[in-house]
Amino acid sequence: METVEDKKKKLLVEKDRQNVWHHVSPYNKDNPAMVVTEAKGSWITDHNGNRLLDGMSGLWCVNVGYGREELALAAYEQMKQMAYAPMIQSHAPAIELAEKINELLDDDYMIFYSNSGSDANEVAFKIARQYHQQNGESLRYKFISRYRAYHGSSMGALSATGQALRKYKYEPLSSGFLHVAPPDNYRRPAGQSVKEYNLRRAEELEEKIIWEQKETIAGIIMEPLITGGGVLIPHPVYVKKVQEICKRHGVLLIIDEVICGFGRTGKMFGHMHYDSRPDIVTMAKGLTSAYLPLSITAVRKDIYETFKNSEENSHFRHVNTFGGNPAACAVALKNIEIIEQENLVSRAAILGDRLEKELEELKDHPYVGDIRSQGFLMGIELVEDKITKEPALAQRVSKIIGECKVNGLIIGKNGDTVAGYNNILTICPPLSSTDEDLDFIITVVKKVFKQNES
Ligand code: PMP
Repeated sequence: METVEDKKKKLLVEKDRQNVWHHVSPYNKDNPAMVVTEAKGSWITDHNGNRLLDGMSGLWCVNVGYGREELALAAYEQMKQMAYAPMIQSHAPAIELAEKINELLDDDYMIFYSNSGSDANEVAFKIARQYHQQNGESLRYKFISRYRAYHGSSMGALSATGQALRKYKYEPLSSGFLHVAPPDNYRRPAGQSVKEYNLRRAEELEEKIIWEQKETIAGIIMEPLITGGGVLIPHPVYVKKVQEICKRHGVLLIIDEVICGFGRTGKMFGHMHYDSRPDIVTMAKGLTSAYLPLSITAVRKDIYETFKNSEENSHFRHVNTFGGNPAACAVALKNIEIIEQENLVSRAAILGDRLEKELEELKDHPYVGDIRSQGFLMGIELVEDKITKEPALAQRVSKIIGECKVNGLIIGKNGDTVAGYNNILTICPPLSSTDEDLDFIITVVKKVFKQNES
C-alpha cells in the first residue's frame, strides 16, 4: 500500500518535472531526475532511499565529502556575525583566504573573487586584455585554448571551450578565441614517442601564435590536464614548452585549476606537477568543496602592479555582487583546513594509485582502449576495436554507466561528442573516501566490466 511518505516523494518528483529546468539533461518523462535527499561522506541518498557512492563528487567538486558539520558551522557563524559586504569593501574572511591561497600557491598573487569557474575565467580574460592595453599592446586580444577543453558556460568561457556541441546553438560567441589540438597520447601517430608527440603539439601551438601574428595574442588558457574533455594528461615536456612559448611571445599563461585544484591530482594544484609558474590561476569547485559558490582568479602581482601605474589605468572595471561572499570565504578557509589536517592531497595520490593498480587488469577487457589517471581522477577510454581505436558506441558507454548505478555507484561520461570521443568513463570521488569506499568502487567497476565482456 502506498504510504503518506511514498505519496510525498511522488509529488516531489512531479513538482520537479513541472517546475525545474535541469542543466544539460533533456526532458525525459520516463526517467525523471534523481532527487537527492541526503549526503554523507562519499555517499548520497535519493528520494527512494537508494544509497549511491558518488564517484564523481557531484560535478568533480565535493573534495572533502558531504555532511561536514564544520563547514555548515563556519557559514552559520559568519552569517550571524556579518552576512555580506561587497568586494568594493573588504572583510576578514576574504583577506585571510587571499593570504592562505598565496601560501598554497607558494607565490605572490592578487586574489580576485567571483562565484563560479566560468566567472573566474571571464575575469582572467578581461584582466589579460586590459593588462596588454595598459602596456601599450592593445592589439593583444586573442586567446588560444585547446579543442576538447571545457572552460565554462558563459559567453567568453564557452568561446574558450573546445567542444563544438556545447557551442554551436549559441553562436556567434565572443570573437578572438582560437583553438589548437591537445596532446592525446593514446591517439598519437604511430612511430612517435609520447615525448616527441607532446613537443610537436606544443610546436603547433607556437605555429598558431605566429600564423595569427604574435602581437595579437593575449593569453593561452589550459587546464593542467584536460579533465571533462576526456582526462588527457600531457607529458611534462608539453607544459614546459608551452610556458617557454608564452614567455617568448609575451603571451600570458592562464591555468584553469577549477577541477584540478585543491588536491584532486595528488598535489595542491595540478600545475605543481610541472615546473610551471602561471601568470593567472583560476579556481572554483574544490575551493569550497561546493558547499557554497565561490571562485578565484589569482593574478601575478607584477601584472596587478601595472593597474596602479596611472590614474586612468587603476580601475579594473569588473564587479559582481556575490563574489567573495563572507560565508563562502569562511567555508573555503575551513575547507582548506580540512584538506590540510586530513592530508587529503596525499590521500588523493594514495587512493588514486590503488585505484589504478586494481583496475589495471581492465586493460585486457575487449572494450577498454586506455586507462589514464592522475591523483584521484581517472578516465577509462572505451573503444569498439583496440586496433583501430574506433570510439565505443554510445549505448555501450551508457550501459556500463547504468549498470554501475544499479550497483550503487555513480561514474561519469566525458569527452567530445562531435569528434566522436564521448567514450571516456570518468571516476573522481571525494578525496575523503575511505578504504572501504574505494573497495566498493573497485568491486562494482570490475563486476560491471565483467558483465560487459561481449
Ligand atoms: N573550468 C573547468 C575546467 C571546469 O571543469 C568547469 C566546470 N565543470 C568550469 C571551468 C566552469 O565552472 P562553473 O561550472 O563553476 O562555471
